[in-house]
Amino acid sequence: MSLCVLGTNSVMAQGGDQILDGIGETGLISRYIFKGDANDWSRNNLHGTIKGSDFKFVEDSLFGNVLSLTGKSEVFISIPGEAVTGEESLSITGWIYLRSAKSGQLFFDFGKDSQSHFFAAPAGTREKEGYQAQIITKSDKYVAGSPAVGVNKWNHLAIVINVASKTLSTYLNGVLVSEAKDAAVELEQLFDNNTGENNKLYIGKSLTSDNAFLNAKLHDFRIYRIPLTERQIARIVNIALKKEEPTVRRRVEPDRNLPVFPVTTPQLYNQFLTSVPDIQVETEVGNLPRLPRNVKGVYSKKAAGPDVRVLWPAPMDNNQVLTPGTYTITGRVAGSEIQPKAIVTVKEAEVHTTPKRTLEAFNLDQVVLNTDLHNHDTKFIENRNKFLTGLANTNPDNFLYMFRNAFGQEQPEGAKPLGGWDSQQTKLRGHGTGHYLTALAQAYASTGYDASLQANFADKMEYMVNTLYALSQMSGKPKTAGGDHVSDPAVVPAGPGKQGYDSDLNAEGIRTDYWNWGTGFISAYPPDQFIMLEKGATYGGSAAQIWAPYYTLHKIMAGLMDIYEISGNEKALEIVKGMGNWVHARLSQVPKETLISMWNRYIAGEYGGMNDAMARLYRLTSEPRFLEAAKLFDNIRVFYGDAGHSHGLAKNVDLFRSLHANMHIPQVIGALEIYRDSDAPEYYQIADNFWNMITNDYMYSIGGVAGARNPNNAECFTAQPATLYENGFAAGGQNETCATYNMLKLTSGLFLFDQRAEYMDYYERGLYNHILASVAETTPANTYHVPLRPGSVKQFGNANMSGFTCCNGTALESSTKLQNSIYFKSADNSALYVNLYVPSTLKWTDRNVTVTQTTAYPNEDNTRLTIKGKGRFDINVRVPHWATKGFFVKINGKDKKVDAVPGSYLTISRKWKNGDTVELRMPFKFYLEPVMDQQNIASLFYGPVLLAAQETDPRTEWRKVTLDAEDISKSISGDAAQLEFKIDSIVFKPFYETYGRHSVYLDVTLK
Ligand SMILES: [Zn+2]
Repeated sequence: MSLCVLGTNSVMAQGGDQILDGIGETGLISRYIFKGDANDWSRNNLHGTIKGSDFKFVEDSLFGNVLSLTGKSEVFISIPGEAVTGEESLSITGWIYLRSAKSGQLFFDFGKDSQSHFFAAPAGTREKEGYQAQIITKSDKYVAGSPAVGVNKWNHLAIVINVASKTLSTYLNGVLVSEAKDAAVELEQLFDNNTGENNKLYIGKSLTSDNAFLNAKLHDFRIYRIPLTERQIARIVNIALKKEEPTVRRRVEPDRNLPVFPVTTPQLYNQFLTSVPDIQVETEVGNLPRLPRNVKGVYSKKAAGPDVRVLWPAPMDNNQVLTPGTYTITGRVAGSEIQPKAIVTVKEAEVHTTPKRTLEAFNLDQVVLNTDLHNHDTKFIENRNKFLTGLANTNPDNFLYMFRNAFGQEQPEGAKPLGGWDSQQTKLRGHGTGHYLTALAQAYASTGYDASLQANFADKMEYMVNTLYALSQMSGKPKTAGGDHVSDPAVVPAGPGKQGYDSDLNAEGIRTDYWNWGTGFISAYPPDQFIMLEKGATYGGSAAQIWAPYYTLHKIMAGLMDIYEISGNEKALEIVKGMGNWVHARLSQVPKETLISMWNRYIAGEYGGMNDAMARLYRLTSEPRFLEAAKLFDNIRVFYGDAGHSHGLAKNVDLFRSLHANMHIPQVIGALEIYRDSDAPEYYQIADNFWNMITNDYMYSIGGVAGARNPNNAECFTAQPATLYENGFAAGGQNETCATYNMLKLTSGLFLFDQRAEYMDYYERGLYNHILASVAETTPANTYHVPLRPGSVKQFGNANMSGFTCCNGTALESSTKLQNSIYFKSADNSALYVNLYVPSTLKWTDRNVTVTQTTAYPNEDNTRLTIKGKGRFDINVRVPHWATKGFFVKINGKDKKVDAVPGSYLTISRKWKNGDTVELRMPFKFYLEPVMDQQNIASLFYGPVLLAAQETDPRTEWRKVTLDAEDISKSISGDAAQLEFKIDSIVFKPFYETYGRHSVYLDVTLK
């Protein structure tokens, strides 16, 4: 076995609990180490309960403190039933030291009841000898059996249900010992997917009453949502036995459980490609050239093939461009021998101007979503209403619970703590509240059409702000007049009776001495996590570790500023200023090297958009220290390469490969905000270069950008750019929905500076095919990851807004501002931009003009703008990149001859009269969006809409389709108005209308 360490960048700052044993944390549901309790050591708070009294924790020579069950009746562990709701596959692992060979003892038994369950018996059942796992459904039974495990020694058991490959496998000490094939089971046959209450998850007890209880010691019991491979299981075993080093990551082939294609097999249109002419590119000293990813090719029989995707090498420094001259870069084309060349001329650096922000978005209350041309609710209205109804029914006291808890205050009657990542012991608590503040502000602004709903949100906003204000005013001031207190944020002492700082948030352990916290402090936990981050704390579950304090703070500050900007609530701004001062007071004393280390510390240093929030606070207050504080959040390594600012994003060098996607996207949004407020051009270059790389080299067809199989964390960018097939399509999740939320924010932000249509083309892609597609059919439940492997299914959570993950949080924001980028205007009010074709009414109050957009888009390919009011202004309409079959304009019913280029904006200048109409028609066409490094794997689009194959069963192989090489539409039948199509007998529907199993990517053959 050859062992070579990955590039330093891949190893950097990622390890420990999050890549536990080489498996990304998104694959882990829960973990019970049984060191003194049955707490869940994952971030999901699925704490177990030990039932009965006849158990103890004992010292063990191999594993230290372990749980010992005695075999007495009704002594077992119960795990919360929601641990398994909505999962795709399951793996259960753990160490067991059996003291008795008695049959009928169960390692675990999970299910609805004795008719529908899944269990493992290490010493046999009453009916059958040997170590075995069984799946029992109402109609079937699957058994994987092997000889019984030995007693009076530690054994590692792993049991894997792989739904896609229809296998039930058992492992003993890292080795596969039995496998049942054709186990055609869906987990919803075993578990209630809607509510955890109906699922019984027992360790050491059977769902069938006559079985024996476990007489054994237990250690490190884990539940995964992914089907673990034999190699992964062996690694868990070896690391536990210290036969493998957990911290050194070894170069191993990524898990190849996706089909592998021979390199010589032609891929899609590349089979007709004969050559790709060299291209000439210019750049300036220091800046890596921006190479076009798509280049004109020469095709054999099919004269007009698509532009050719070229895979260029992507260096991690700028050594090639340090002096003027020319050099040649050789690229490759997937599935082809052709090696295109780019001749790069490096010129002396010149001073450039970067664009000014010349456009503005409209306020949310200036744009109202309408029903479509046929009076039907659009998907936009449906999703918005699910969230507005849910939000209106929330109790604000639940969202304030952990804030009051942190300040040691009584809870008002009826207040219930939130679950998920806002529960008592969770170090991210308060993050959901931050999103809630933003959602309330946006919901308030968006419901001018319903006075009682709007009043509901106004009341909630005010109550939230008043309570948070009162708490923030207590920080750093004496509890009673003349009492002790510490007002300086830079010298906050350790909690009373504590030796140092810790992140203990248990009811018994949390410090509540707010008078020592420095003035202005507000959070749903004490200041310790912020201080521990400065002192080097990493992300993890122990009291010496932290989650992401500044991430949480960003949500709270952004939410309060949203309320201030939308409703004018001055107290909201006062709270933010107080906390902004607190942050400035602390961070301005931290050495630069420490800051660099903090912001590169995986998850612990994830700060959301703190730089965005602080720069915005400067914009709202004109107090320079807030801009200074914003710059203290510079991610120097990613932005500038090193402390000397040698390269990095500012010089078009990609150092963010393999890093956590959603940790870094908001940092770049912050860079753009700092540019807006300070004019420093490097911040613009950072945002512009980042957007170009991320959409070209890391994007899936739905607009999502994370999902790395290699490195082993699905929330990361792939290990190398433009290798989605080789390194992406992670099984543990991909396309974190937050990341797309943030990409849309960055994209519209960039468009306000530079009106490149590709920005809003991306916006349309991500909005329709990820954000709209991320919400459940009838409730506001929503997705975390959106899986795109064959036959996947979306998982929706948080239907009743009671327990938030990060993505449940951003979903509150996304669905309360769906109208925010349909229209923009020039800052001088001389031009209107129509970016999206969504039924809506715009009140352009500065010009006393109303524009009503009437359409059934995307079920129809046309839209009409009706103008009320008058005056001379430009209307710029987006000609989508896919509109290659023409773009037709009628003004007041008469054809207007236009020269519309796909992927641009068309300007219509006119002195508008009251009642003028503009009709636009852009015939849709079918087209494929291939994976850059495996082009036969592609998504099918119709206009802006991604069409997903509707699957009935789980799959391990991509769905194969054969399409006409000259015109793929010849192979597709169906109803365009319903957006329902067929290829052969397979039904395709918009991904945003897909709630069952789907294939977003297909294996396409052209004939
Ligand atoms: Zn998220």
